[in-house]
Amino acid sequence: MYLVWHRADLRTHDNPALAAALQSGPAVGLVVLDPNILSGTSARRRAWFCRNVAALREAYARRGGNLLVRSGVPWEVLPRVVAELEARRVFAVRNSTPYARFRDRKVEEALPGRVAWFQGQYVQEPGEIVKPGGGPYTVFTPYSRRWWAAPEAQLLEAPGRFPPAALPPGYDLGSVPNEPSDVPLPPAGEEAALGALEAFLRNGLLLYHQARDKLDGSGVSRLSCYFTLGVLSPRLAAQRAMQAGGEGARKWVGELAWRDFSGDLLHNFPHMARSAFDPRWDALPWVDDAEVFGAWLEGRTGVPAVDAGMRELRATGFLSNRARMVVAQFAVKLALLPWQKCERAFRDLLLDGDNASNLQGWQWAGGLGVDAAPYFRVFNPLTQAHTHDPGGAWLRRWVPECGGRPEPYGRSVLDLEAARRRYLEAAGRVGRAN
Ligand code: FAD
Repeated sequence: MYLVWHRADLRTHDNPALAAALQSGPAVGLVVLDPNILSGTSARRRAWFCRNVAALREAYARRGGNLLVRSGVPWEVLPRVVAELEARRVFAVRNSTPYARFRDRKVEEALPGRVAWFQGQYVQEPGEIVKPGGGPYTVFTPYSRRWWAAPEAQLLEAPGRFPPAALPPGYDLGSVPNEPSDVPLPPAGEEAALGALEAFLRNGLLLYHQARDKLDGSGVSRLSCYFTLGVLSPRLAAQRAMQAGGEGARKWVGELAWRDFSGDLLHNFPHMARSAFDPRWDALPWVDDAEVFGAWLEGRTGVPAVDAGMRELRATGFLSNRARMVVAQFAVKLALLPWQKCERAFRDLLLDGDNASNLQGWQWAGGLGVDAAPYFRVFNPLTQAHTHDPGGAWLRRWVPECGGRPEPYGRSVLDLEAARRRYLEAAGRVGRAN
């Protein structure tokens, strides 16, 4: 008997750990509800995770397989399940966030020589793309050049019927908690994800490069919530898009390279989970103002594009990349709110919340040293709305009181021009001091 430990790979298609286990013999799946991850996570994200675990269990059952669900810390749960089932080995797809690496080391210590790791969370795994002389990239453009030149992975079909795996009589499979969500959730599971991918390839890919910056998010795939939990294979998505071809496809697959770059950065520079990628920027004079933070988080700053973004995110769990950049730049550069606090609160609102992409996104938008964007580039939320929501429909939808106009309405928590000057002076001082 073999055990497939699913973590951020809640799928049966293109899953190298599952394929290798089934090649070795009868196998059962396992999901561990890890309190170190789940207890600090928002209700909507727990609910989204649980719905996808339930869908994976159904996908197993349709093929005659079993997916076990257990609660506890993995380095205690896995040895127990391995002993109960007399499992010979554990197969898992590698994750590389700081906590995942700590967790996996503990599991390896508890089960020496019995865990086999596979790639499959990214198109190109963290740590794989290195400079010609060795060492990690810190800038996206040269990273992406090598990313595009890397060989394509061989995709793996979803398995057919599982060979029967005899469980001890009366063995408890464990139940998937029915967690409530405060936002409507997209359809869960890999069938829904594969269907959404195909629909996007048919209807959105061709013009993606032109439509992706619309603030209302109508020009993008909205597949991130599936990629985050590995419900959809990024390798399959990239290959299907490249088969379709065209400028839209190349741009879209380039965004998957950004996802990989985010994973690579956090893998190589784990300090960015706590402090600025370039630690000089930790010295910015942060203003931990509870009122401004609350206004930002609840979408009542008085700046329409910022409020529309935060209200949409709170109501749906999704926000376009363009709107994410607007709300993050407002928080970090204009309000000088402690970025870690904003990053954490923001991640909890996102169904696609992901450590690596969120940290990279916040540090990129905040000018904290990720990539080559100059710190003095400060988005003007008014211009952003003019350009990327020209008719004002998105603003009207989420902030009806602004009448679709991008200028501040009511009592604004910040004077935008004064805030911009304050940031530029402070950032200039930090830049000059080093
Ligand atoms: P599409 O435009 O259809 O792109 C396809 C896929 O490429 C996405 O599903 C995503 O997996 C990946 N991708 C696209 N843009 C980026 C990017 N800039 N960085 C990394 N991957 C990207 N993405 C997350 O998945 N989780 C997060 O927690 C997250 N937080 C962010 C926070 C900020 C402040 C910013 C600026 C960006 C953040 N992103 C995050 C990246 C990006 O905004 C989302 O991935 C994207 O908006 C998701 O929408 P989509 O699936 O329609 O993307």
